[in-house]
Amino acid sequence: MNAAANVRAFGSAHRYFQGPGALAMTGELAASLGREPLLICDAIVHGLLFPVASRSCAEHDLPLRWGEVRGDVTRRAVRVLVDEARADGRHVDLVIAAGGGKGVDTGKAVARELGARLLVLPTSASNDGPCSKSFVFYDDQHRMESVEQMPRNPDVVLVDTELLVKAPRALLVSGIGDALCKLYEGAQTRLAGGRNLFGGLNTIAAEQISVACDRVIRADSVAALGALDTGRPSAAFERLTEALVLLSGIAFENSGLSLAHSITRGLPLIAPITQTLHGFHVGYGLLVQFLLENRSDAFMAEQFAFYRAVGLAVNLRGLNAPDASAETIRVIADGTMASPHLKHFERPLTAADFVAAMTRLEHLTHLTEDLH
Ligand SMILES: [Zn+2]
Repeated sequence: MNAAANVRAFGSAHRYFQGPGALAMTGELAASLGREPLLICDAIVHGLLFPVASRSCAEHDLPLRWGEVRGDVTRRAVRVLVDEARADGRHVDLVIAAGGGKGVDTGKAVARELGARLLVLPTSASNDGPCSKSFVFYDDQHRMESVEQMPRNPDVVLVDTELLVKAPRALLVSGIGDALCKLYEGAQTRLAGGRNLFGGLNTIAAEQISVACDRVIRADSVAALGALDTGRPSAAFERLTEALVLLSGIAFENSGLSLAHSITRGLPLIAPITQTLHGFHVGYGLLVQFLLENRSDAFMAEQFAFYRAVGLAVNLRGLNAPDASAETIRVIADGTMASPHLKHFERPLTAADFVAAMTRLEHLTHLTEDLH
């Protein structure tokens, strides 16, 4: 959708709930949306949350069925789940999409096919997907095929922080990387007069939510990571979760993406990098963006210190790249040029600009490495 030239646009998930034990609200919230709920998740997530979610649904006279996610989010896998959902003639009117990335995206795709309402139940804060209307299809070779859109954002996002605090540390660090870039990518989109994902201009609301997202990440990440060791969601963990799941999701859809996400087109061309998570890729991409914004050495030193404190990658070695040779950097820079987000920058860029920035980043981070 593209609004007229001067129209601002804002959209978000309809309702958001977050806190310890929030999973027990599943039945009450599901009952407000439909009569035939279908849980979409893999077997591990099913084991984590089905007992509580199904009991909660039963209290509201809702029988909770399960469609098992067995692999990547592919058109074929979604077709199988949709056929299963329709097999016994029941009309599924609510999809409960649960998991990290795959379960949530598969559930979105199934809900779109069935024309059902959507309740999202994330089990980690590893990315900005839960509140958004976007999801990604992969092909049978695990390659990204297309970015898809739901007709509307999720009806409910339900975040039980007792579940999230038990997720692996790397997932939370990835979520920090994915959320950290939002303020700076949004700022570049605003500078370039770009459109957001609702087809309109940026709002004050989007900008202020991005500012709050950045502030919370920088203030609370280290303490929130500490909560993982205790297994209990602390106040810092609650604030960081809101930043990574709610604020980050609203920020990117309502602001737009820029260079940090552009580089995710180039990085997977170096095979071992695909083993690291999305948030590590965009975190690295944000450092490249900062260099292309001509940030000061003092500013960069602050970023390196923060990245190292939370465990984000500051250079290609941190992303599992076999080397940081001129050839590796050239391949990544060339791949990055295919990104549609490049137009959201204050000036046009070439592959040579990315080569220069990535080379400089290697140099700067190796210079400071001995200090840490
Ligand atoms: Zn992202």
